[in-house]
Amino acid sequence: GYDAESLVAAIRALGAVIAQRRTELTQLDQEIGDGDHGENLARGFSAVLTKLRSTEPETPAKVMALVATTLISTVGGASGPLFGTAFLRGSTVLGGAAELDGALVAAGLVAARDGVVARGKAELGDKTMVDALSPAADAATKAAEAGADVAGVLAAAAEAAAAGAAATAPLQARKGRASYLGERSIGHVDPGAQSTAYILESLAASAA
Ligand code: ADP
Ligand code: MG
Ligand code: MG
Repeated sequence: GYDAESLVAAIRALGAVIAQRRTELTQLDQEIGDGDHGENLARGFSAVLTKLRSTEPETPAKVMALVATTLISTVGGASGPLFGTAFLRGSTVLGGAAELDGALVAAGLVAARDGVVARGKAELGDKTMVDALSPAADAATKAAEAGADVAGVLAAAAEAAAAGAAATAPLQARKGRASYLGERSIGHVDPGAQSTAYILESLAASAA
């Protein structure tokens, strides 16, 4: 089953992916932001990996909570509190479960999306991380309803997030720093949507 140990391994792999994608994410943010998104996330996940060297959370929810509090205190910027909220809301939904199943993962992604929307007030199409996370939560829900397991639900979420991130390119940003650029934000993929897609892709790969 997919237990706390599985999730810790997945978060470790995710930390490596974020480090690999750091330059690319920062370049996306140089085009329509302040050029720090890759650095912000790399700093956050590096702190998460450091904490996981000395702590062994007993449940998947506690792993998610550790990630959330660490990201909130280290990432900074607009995305830190938003990713922190996503992991924290996901953690709350998992409760005391020792093992995850497809339905719990889908519920976690829905709660994560709802938390980010409540906190950041971005709607679908505003060219933010919501454009990746929201279709991911919807696709995860559908997959779980069809009986998919953790790997299947995450694969569906990752595919929808990647499509959602790519679809931000032609949009004009209406939230966050990129919105200051007005029409000049058109033609670039949103950094937070792309990092959200990479996060889900990595979690899906680890579960497969
Ligand atoms: P900052 O813009 O403070 O430098 P980052 O560069 O780390 O922070 O993150 C920028 C990303 O945060 C954007 O690409 C976007 O996806 C996301 N973002 C910004 N504002 C919002 C918001 N209100 N709701 C959802 N996501 C947002
Ligand atoms: Mg930035
Ligand atoms: Mg910044």
